[in-house]
Amino acid sequence: MRAGRSRRVPGDQGAVTADAPAGGGPREAGEGEPGTGPGEAEAPASRRAAAVTTVVLLVLLAVVIVVTTPWHPLPGPRSAPDPALDFGPAQIARSHGFNAALNPPAYAGLVAGLLVVLLLGLTPLGARLLGSVTRPLRFRPLRLAGAAVVLAVVTRPAGLPFDLWSETVLRRYGLSTQHWGAWFSDQATSLGVTLVIWIVVLLSLHLLIRRFPRRWWAGAAAGGFVLVAAASFGYPILVEPLFNSFHSMPAGPLRTDLLAMARRDHVPVDDVLVADASKRTTELNAYVSGFGSTRRIVVYDTLLKTEPPRQVELVVAHELGHAKRGDVLHGTLVGALGAATGVCALSLIMSSPRLLRRAGAESAADPRSIALLLAGVTVLLQVAAPVENLVSRRIEARADTHALDLTRDPATYVAMQRSLSVRNLDELSPSALEYALWNTHPSGPERIAMGRDWARLHHVAPPRPLAKETPP
Ligand SMILES: [Zn+2]
Repeated sequence: MRAGRSRRVPGDQGAVTADAPAGGGPREAGEGEPGTGPGEAEAPASRRAAAVTTVVLLVLLAVVIVVTTPWHPLPGPRSAPDPALDFGPAQIARSHGFNAALNPPAYAGLVAGLLVVLLLGLTPLGARLLGSVTRPLRFRPLRLAGAAVVLAVVTRPAGLPFDLWSETVLRRYGLSTQHWGAWFSDQATSLGVTLVIWIVVLLSLHLLIRRFPRRWWAGAAAGGFVLVAAASFGYPILVEPLFNSFHSMPAGPLRTDLLAMARRDHVPVDDVLVADASKRTTELNAYVSGFGSTRRIVVYDTLLKTEPPRQVELVVAHELGHAKRGDVLHGTLVGALGAATGVCALSLIMSSPRLLRRAGAESAADPRSIALLLAGVTVLLQVAAPVENLVSRRIEARADTHALDLTRDPATYVAMQRSLSVRNLDELSPSALEYALWNTHPSGPERIAMGRDWARLHHVAPPRPLAKETPP
C-alpha cells in the first residue's frame, strides 16, 4: 500500500535472480573444473543457443509486461498532481528536507555497492580473494559456501556506512523507533537470509554446471523460474516472521467491517493480520504477500494506532484490490520469467572467455568465478529495477481505483493518501531519477489527483482541497 520510495532492508541484493535445483543427481567430486575435452567445439553453439533463448525470453517478457500491465486503470485524461492543493508549506518543506537528506546516502550506497561488486567481478581481485580463502577447503560444497560467505563479508561493509547514514536520517525525522542493537540484529538477519539463498543457489547451479557443462543454462533458467515462484510463495511463512510478529486483528467493529467489505468484494478473506511494525518505524503501511495457501493481508500496527477506522478501511480496500486481481501471483510469474531471462543472460557472461579471463577464473564451474556472477546479478537487478517500479506503479494505481470503486468514498481516500504521505515523509514531487529508481508507488499527490479524477468520472462530489486544514 505504502506511498513513495521503497526503503529496502539492506543485504537482500541478488536474492532472487538465480538458479535452483533442477534435474541433475548427486555428482560430487573433489577438484577439477570441466570445460575442456571433447565438447570444446560445442561451446560456441551452446552460447549461440543461450543468446537466442535470452532474446526470445526478453521479447516474451516485454510482450507480457506490455499486455498485462494496467497502463490506464482509470479511463480519461489524468489530472496533473499538485502538492500545494492538499499539503501545507511546512509539510512540503519537511518532506522535501527529509528526502534531500536521504538521497546522498541512497545514491552513494548504490554507486559504492556497484563499484565494489564490479571491481571484484571484472578484475582478478575477486578471484584472487576467493581462491585464497577457498583453496584450503577440500570439499567442493564447502568451497562454494565459503565463497558466498567471503563475498558477503567483503561487499556488505561497502553498503553499511551508507545504511547507517540513512538510519540516522530516519531517526532525525522520527521515522525510526529502533535501538541500534535491534537495527544491527535486523542487518544480521537480512544477511543470513541472503546467504542461505545464495548458498542454495550456488550449490544447485554448480551441480548443474558439472553435470551439464554446456547446457546448464537451460536447467538453471528453469530453476530460476521455480526458485522465484517458491520464494514468493514461502516468503510470508519463512521470512516475514524473522522480522515481525503477527497476530489476528482483534474482534471488534473494525475487523467486522473489514471482513464484511471483503465479502462484499467477493474476495475470500477470513483474517486480517497485524504486524508489530511500531518496534521499528512510525511509518504507515499495509500489504498483501504470498499466494494460494500463504496469501495474507497484513496491516501495520502503526496504522491501527493512529488512523481513523474509515481510513484503515480505505487502505484495506486497496489491498483487496491486489488480492482480487491476484497481483502477487501475477508479479511472481512475471518476476520468475524475468529471472529465467536473467539466468540465460548471466550464462552468456559466465561463458564469455574474455570476461572470465578478466575475472581471473577458468570457467563457470570454477568457484572463483562467483565474483563475476555476483557482478552480473547485481547489474541485471539494477537495470531491471526501474522497469519493475514502472509496472508496480500502474498496478498500485489500479489497486487505488479498486479501493475507490469499492468504497465510493473519494474524500476519505484523499484524506488517507495525505495521511500516508505526511506520516511517511514521502517526496511529494520526486525528480525523474528518484521516481525511476525508488518509487514503487505513484507519488502521494498523483494518487490524490487520481482520487479527484475518479470522483469527476463517477459524478461524486470531488474531495475538497486539504491544504487549508493543515496546521501551519
Ligand atoms: Zn498496493
